[in-house]
Amino acid sequence: MIRTENLTRIFRTEEVETIALNGVNIEVEDGEFIAIMGPSGCGKSTLLNILGLLDSPTEGKYWLNNEEVGHLKERERTAYRKGRIGFVFQNFNLIDELTVEENVDLQLKYLGVGKAERKERVLEILRKVKLSHRAKHYPHQLSGGQQQRVAIARAVVGKPSIILADEPTGNLDSKNGMEVMQLLSELNEEGTTIVMVTHSKHDATYASRIINLFDGQVVDAMNDQL
Ligand code: ADP
Ligand code: MG
Repeated sequence: MIRTENLTRIFRTEEVETIALNGVNIEVEDGEFIAIMGPSGCGKSTLLNILGLLDSPTEGKYWLNNEEVGHLKERERTAYRKGRIGFVFQNFNLIDELTVEENVDLQLKYLGVGKAERKERVLEILRKVKLSHRAKHYPHQLSGGQQQRVAIARAVVGKPSIILADEPTGNLDSKNGMEVMQLLSELNEEGTTIVMVTHSKHDATYASRIINLFDGQVVDAMNDQL
C-alpha cells in the first residue's frame, strides 16, 4: 500500500538547513497497524505529513497503491488525498463553532455526499464512536477523549483506506487515551490501515509493527541510541 525509497525532506530557511528526513525506506502493507516512534524532532510528523500528502519530499519516491505520488504538486495532492486518507491530530483540530454532528457532516459535504446519505452516515459513525448522545454538543462541552473520538469519526466517515494519526493520545490522560486506542484498534480490525506516531510504549502495543526513527532515519529498535 505504502512504499518509500530514499525519502528525504530538507527544510531551508535563510540561515539554517534542517534535514528532517534522511533517506527513509519503508513499506506498509494493506491492513497493517504501524507505530512510528522516536525522540522529539526526529522527523516523525514530517514523515506522516508526506505519507498523508500534506507535504512532499525534497528527494526520493513515494508510492501509494502502486502510484508514485511523491512528486505531485499541492493541488494534485489535495485531490488525491480526498476520500482516501483520514488524518487525526494531537490537538483534535475540530471546528469550535460547529456541533459534533456538524463537524463530521462537513467532511461528507467536502466529499460531495448528498444530504440524505450524509445524515445517515453521520448518525452511524457517531454511534460507532459512542457519541450519539453528544451530537448536538460543541467541542468545548466534551472531554478530550470524546473530542478525539469526534475527530476520528470525521477522519473515517468518508471511508478512507488509511488513517494517519499524529500522537492521537498526546493530549489525553490514560483513560481517555485508552478509549482512543481501542477505537483505532477496532477500525484496524475492520480493515483500515493505520500509521500512528506515538511517544507512548503502551499505545505502541496496539500496533502490529513499530518503525523507529532517529535523526531522520529508520533505525533498528535494538539500537543503543534509543
Ligand atoms: P517530530 O515529529 O519527530 O518531533 P518533526 O518532523 O516535526 O519531528 O521535525 C523534524 C525536524 O524538522 C525538526 O528539526 C524540526 O524543527 C524541523 N521542521 C519540521 N517542520 C519544519 C518546517 N516547516 N520548517 C522548518 N523546519 C521544520
Ligand atoms: Mg511531531
